[in-house]
Amino acid sequence: MKYELQTIPVWDALRKGSECPICTLMEAAEADSVNFYLGSSVMNPETRVQANTIGFCPHHMDLLAQARKPQSLAVMLRSVVDEQVSRLAKPFAMAASAKPGHSCDKAVSAITDAIASEEKGCLICRRMEARLVRYCYTVAVLWATDEEFRKALESSRGFCLNHFARILQISSEALPARDRVQFVMNMTELETRGLKDVSSDVQWMTQMYKSENEGASWNGCEDAQIRAAYKLIGKARIQNESDK
Ligand SMILES: [Zn+2]
Ligand SMILES: [Zn+2]
Repeated sequence: MKYELQTIPVWDALRKGSECPICTLMEAAEADSVNFYLGSSVMNPETRVQANTIGFCPHHMDLLAQARKPQSLAVMLRSVVDEQVSRLAKPFAMAASAKPGHSCDKAVSAITDAIASEEKGCLICRRMEARLVRYCYTVAVLWATDEEFRKALESSRGFCLNHFARILQISSEALPARDRVQFVMNMTELETRGLKDVSSDVQWMTQMYKSENEGASWNGCEDAQIRAAYKLIGKARIQNESDK
């Protein structure tokens, strides 16, 4: 077994009947990760060293800031800010003594390079990626080994496009070649159906705004635009591609 199976959470997410069970799981994974970095882990010196060296992507820093845990975030960020101040000391000093022309250009490049190099990693993206791989792997393994799961999955709404692609990729690690090709075929069929359903739901939604359809039934399409948007991009996406 290449990765630890997550059978119960994957089954629970599938039963929720959303547009993508992996999105359901990743929303929970993101919330858990934000809580983790604002929980007792902030007292762990190792976590704070990681926060200094790896950091958080802008999206996850935003979630940390919005989580209303001022004390925890202050503890976590105190040394991160200090570290930044010392990293930027040299390029800032270059700017402070710059001369017109090339010297000024050099100082600005030094500052922008130092800031850009800081935006590479994210502890929360890494944690989410580790979970994403296990969830996608579990979907493929359960499809091959649990008849009931296969039926439930194949009659579900499929996945968002982002997670659909990841599931197909990771299936190479979960299934032998002969099973994998069947899995890829079945999942593609499922995804085609899921996309067509979303497409006709959005289509019906647009019809509902026409006066001739006043009083007609929404047919469950009240939130079709939201479902369509997230079908395309997925929820709780891992922001930092370099963390994959
Ligand atoms: Zn998804
Ligand atoms: Zn992130």
